Amino acid sequence: MLEVNKPYLPNKERYFNYIERIYESGWVTNEGPLKKELEHKLAKYLEVKNVVLVANGTLALQVAIRAMGLSGEVVTTPFSFFASSSSLAWQGLTPRFSDIDGSSLNIDASKIGESVTDKVSALLPVHVFGNPCNVEMIADIANYFKLKVIYDASHAFGVKYKEKNVLSYGDVSTVSFHATKLFHTIEGGAVITEDDALADRVRKIINFGFSSPYNHEELGINAKMNEFEAAMGLCVLEEIDNIFSERKRLSLYYKSRLNDVVSFQNKSEFSNENYSYMPVIFDSERSRVLVEEKLVSNNIAPRRYFYPSLDSIEVLRGVGFCPVSRDISSRVLCLPFFVGLTQSDQDRVIDTILGAL
Ligand SMILES: *Cc1c(COP(=O)(O)O)cnc(C)c1O
Repeated sequence: MLEVNKPYLPNKERYFNYIERIYESGWVTNEGPLKKELEHKLAKYLEVKNVVLVANGTLALQVAIRAMGLSGEVVTTPFSFFASSSSLAWQGLTPRFSDIDGSSLNIDASKIGESVTDKVSALLPVHVFGNPCNVEMIADIANYFKLKVIYDASHAFGVKYKEKNVLSYGDVSTVSFHATKLFHTIEGGAVITEDDALADRVRKIINFGFSSPYNHEELGINAKMNEFEAAMGLCVLEEIDNIFSERKRLSLYYKSRLNDVVSFQNKSEFSNENYSYMPVIFDSERSRVLVEEKLVSNNIAPRRYFYPSLDSIEVLRGVGFCPVSRDISSRVLCLPFFVGLTQSDQDRVIDTILGAL
């Protein structure tokens, strides 16, 4: 089966060298040296002030939401992975879904204002597939209504918006470093913020709320990243340029051959692409179904990222109905896309799609 994704495994020697160091020091978790090294290297690479590494991207969101003291409702996008809204519901907040723009696939900033009620305390937009949101309009709306902004930037590793890293916008950005992501630490994630006090609060919360060994200043949780994960991150970071160039090459080839039969996400003109996913949008739900059936029968597993539209998921207990998101959800597929995908694999995917249509 050709899967949609395959975790990137860095050079084995490189990883084993780090593992040696872990065996020598005996330090496997809890503020370990590799975790600290990775935090420094990422802050430098991403040109951001504070990077707090955590156990996964979902906890990054939950901890950030908690550290910011949000309450009531949070305006968010219905077109995302489940965790961007489940983290709100898990913290006892109500997701208020505001519809997307059908070409950028991001929350439609011009409609956010209509969704702001007096219960809303924050905005939680997502840079979907690494495409930056309209960060300036979102900042204006947040200022006007006095709301916090937390970006789920899980897809936006390595993306700059007008010369500044997109992770530096908003009060906080969270990222996921799950094995299927562009940059990964097996499981992992980070809370990123320019606000030092908020970063300190997050550091406390992810370690049970300890302020000193026997002192709990507030309720916390365990969301720490371990040394084996940090070692993986250090290795992947050393190979990141190659990852970007390989993914770019794969993306250009897909686009060159599928350009006439599907449409693609409309990327911001103010940013670079990071080639994090390969979404294609069909002209109708029927075409998507036809193509999906043909792919699966040819042992190719595309993924319906994102389906279902989050405004239709009962357990999230959200409010708002989003027809644009539901429509896109019915017509989108993400194609197999990872370093190591061969040209003959790509041709097999492309020929199957062309044949089905
Ligand atoms: C992957 C992802 C998450 C969750 O991250 P995990 O590390 O898997 O917990 C959250 N939001 C978005 C948009 C994601 O793609």
